[in-house]
Amino acid sequence: MRVLIKITGEAISSENYPIDYNKIKWLANLIRKIYEHKIEIGIVIGGGNLFRGKDLIRNGFKDYKAHYIGMLATTMNGLAIEEVFSSCNLPSKIFSAIDIPRLVSYFSYQEYQKAIKDEQIAIFTAGTGNPYFTTDSAAALRAAETNSDIFIKATKVDGVYSDDPKKNPNAKKFDFLTYDQFLKEKFEIMDLTAIDICKQTKIPVVVLDLFDEKSIYSLLIEKKRVGTLIYQEDICPWH
Ligand code: UDP
Repeated sequence: MRVLIKITGEAISSENYPIDYNKIKWLANLIRKIYEHKIEIGIVIGGGNLFRGKDLIRNGFKDYKAHYIGMLATTMNGLAIEEVFSSCNLPSKIFSAIDIPRLVSYFSYQEYQKAIKDEQIAIFTAGTGNPYFTTDSAAALRAAETNSDIFIKATKVDGVYSDDPKKNPNAKKFDFLTYDQFLKEKFEIMDLTAIDICKQTKIPVVVLDLFDEKSIYSLLIEKKRVGTLIYQEDICPWH
C-alpha cells in the first residue's frame, strides 16, 4: 500500500523552537510504526510554523515573493525532517518542487520511484513550486502523481466537523462525506482544490488527528475507521 500524508509545519514546532528536534523525533517514531509494515510513504510538509504567504502579504510583502518564502519554509522543514529521520535510522529522501541543486533533489517521478525501491520515505517540499497554492493542493497532486492509494490529512482535529468544535460544543463530526458534499459545504479544514484533485483521481481522503498516536496505525494497519473519510462511497476501497 502507498500512502501520502500531509503534515502541517506547526506539527514540528514548539514554543521554544520553530523547528523542534524532539517533535520530529516523535513524528519519526509514529511513522516508523507503519513503515515497519512495508507501507510506502510520502510526506508533504507545510511551512506554517515558519512562514505563510498570506501573513507576509498582510505585513506588506509582494504576494508572489511572500508565497516563495512560504515554499522555501517547507523545504527548511523537509531538510530538518530528513536529518532527524536519518538520526533515528529511518531512511528518507527529500524532494523539492523548486530547483535547489546543492541541497535537495528536484521532484521527478523517476527519482521518486528510485527512492521507493530503496525503501526510503519520500519527503516532498516546496509545495507545487507555484505561488498562490497551498501544501494541501501540493499533497493532492503528489498523491495523484505517485499513484497513492490514500491521502491522509493529518491535522489537529480528529475529523471534519459541521462547525469549529473548539468554539461550538454542538458541532457534529462527520464519519463520511462525499467529495461533492465537501465541495458544496466548503469546509475550511482542507483546501477545496485538493479535494477536487482527489475527486478527479478517485483518491480517498481521510482527515484525522495526527496527535492521536494510534490514528494512522489504526487506519492503515488495523484497517479501522478513523477520522472522516471523504470519498464517493461510504466504504473505503482498501477496507
Ligand atoms: N505555498 C505556495 N505554493 C504551494 C504551496 C505553498 O505558494 O504550492 C506557500 C503559501 O504561501 C503557504 C506557504 O507556502 O502559505 C506554506 O504552506 P502552508 O500554508 O500550506 O503550510 P501549512 O499550513 O500546511 O504548515
